[in-house]
Amino acid sequence: MRTKIVAGNWKMNTTRDEAVALAKAVVAGVPAGTKTKVLVCPPFPWLTAVAEVTRGTPVAVGAQNVFHEKKGAFTGEVSPGMLRECGCEYVLVGHSERRHVLGETDAAINHKVHTALEDGLHVVLCVGETLAERERNLQERVFQRQVYAACAGLTDEQFGRLIFAYEPVWAIGTGKVATPEQAQTAHHNIRQRMSQLYGEKIAGSLPILYGGSVTAENAAGLLNQPDVDGALVGGASLKADQFLAIVTAAPG
Ligand code: PEP
Repeated sequence: MRTKIVAGNWKMNTTRDEAVALAKAVVAGVPAGTKTKVLVCPPFPWLTAVAEVTRGTPVAVGAQNVFHEKKGAFTGEVSPGMLRECGCEYVLVGHSERRHVLGETDAAINHKVHTALEDGLHVVLCVGETLAERERNLQERVFQRQVYAACAGLTDEQFGRLIFAYEPVWAIGTGKVATPEQAQTAHHNIRQRMSQLYGEKIAGSLPILYGGSVTAENAAGLLNQPDVDGALVGGASLKADQFLAIVTAAPG
């Protein structure tokens, strides 16, 4: 049985005070004894402050990005070791905004996945098709390319710290959420592809989150699908009550 995971991606939002207040509200509102793993991903500068709030609580902290080298002359970049020292256990890799706005390639994403896993982080790897790709019914080819490229060379132990987030680009920040059936079909296809590439054991234990306009209202329908193991939430994660409603919508 895969654990449900609900992750909040705060993107480039919040002041320091807002981030601390949001983290405190999330910590206070996570239902006692919940089996759902709750994760918040603040901007880099607020990681330490948020990690101080979440320390010793069931809420974990993730970063939104990481560099693929461990140290050196890489002005402006942040290594996995630095993230761990800030209190991060998780990191998002390959978010569509990084792929499509900032030009990250599949090869760069594969390097990031390797370095982050080698340094002990859990990686939330984001994949998903654009609207143009879906309109041409190319989504399965896109998963195949993104998944194959990102996971090349990983060990079985490393797969144990990998989480997928299926985020159709047309659904991110648009209010156009995938239907539960669309999400289930995509997750099932990704899991089948993983099974063909890496075997049933790895595919069966891989958590696959859905991301793209998840709200308190539509979360239950998505999270009750058999292959939807949680949610990666953008906009709705900035309001503690909405985010917590998504956390409690997760069955289990
Ligand atoms: C995201 O950025 O990962 C995301 C899913 O955003 P939103 O929930 O706002 O669509």
